[in-house]
Amino acid sequence: MAGKKMWKKKSVRSLVLYQFDWPCGVVQAISTRKGGLSEPPFDELNLGCHVGDDLERVYENRRRLSAALNLKSDRWITVNQVHGDRILWVGTGEDIDPAPGKGLPIMEADGLATEQPGVPLVVFGADCGLLLFFDSKTRRIGAVHAGWRGTVNGLPQRMIEQFVERGSRAEDILVGIGPCIGPCCYPVGEEVAEAFKTKWSFSEEVLGPPNEEGKRALDIKAAQRLQLLQANVPDVNIQTMDLCTSCQSAELYSYRRDSGKTGRQGAIIMMTERAD
Ligand SMILES: [Zn+2]
Repeated sequence: MAGKKMWKKKSVRSLVLYQFDWPCGVVQAISTRKGGLSEPPFDELNLGCHVGDDLERVYENRRRLSAALNLKSDRWITVNQVHGDRILWVGTGEDIDPAPGKGLPIMEADGLATEQPGVPLVVFGADCGLLLFFDSKTRRIGAVHAGWRGTVNGLPQRMIEQFVERGSRAEDILVGIGPCIGPCCYPVGEEVAEAFKTKWSFSEEVLGPPNEEGKRALDIKAAQRLQLLQANVPDVNIQTMDLCTSCQSAELYSYRRDSGKTGRQGAIIMMTERAD
């Protein structure tokens, strides 16, 4: 797979972050559980406000991530993620954040995008895929939360379509596919397999052979990559973090592995001001 290893792990203070190997003009990272204040089962750097963790700890965790990336935490833009296929395009941030300082969700959606520099977009996950998008030529960014539902519904592809509608060329868009639950840990039933078969011609490439229970291993990241290729994003532009959330218990949250009682990692992206 082209570009597979083009990402890096980086320690910033006590935090451990993953970053795509992208040109300057954008700040981006996938957080891990390392370096935060939350206690078990949310330890340590839980970024999710809705999981039952102490909110003051979550806000401090968010501040730590912002500080590690030299961002202001009071301008995070987040959405109430609902496994849907809606993308919200946001303006300057100040005009839409109802609770400055908390980074509270502004509405239901699973994709965020902007053409404004200085606006940090953040999506959260604990098994679901987290993807980042960057067009350095015409200057727009995006972030997507897509588990099997968002992926079968084509949310990553929809982001490319919306970039193109606004003037991007697909061949200029860089896409980072972050960690999500891997085929090693994700047997799915007939309903999910059928949903992919109905919608996508590549479904047999992302579904393993049936196991003894008739379940098939789903490779969500591969499905995301194949639908991006269908949208004319060159393979060389796609970087995939080959990490399974369920296998990487020391660094990543996994909803399945931890039976729902766990925190959330985040994917964060912000366009910087032009140098010129
Ligand atoms: Zn795994």
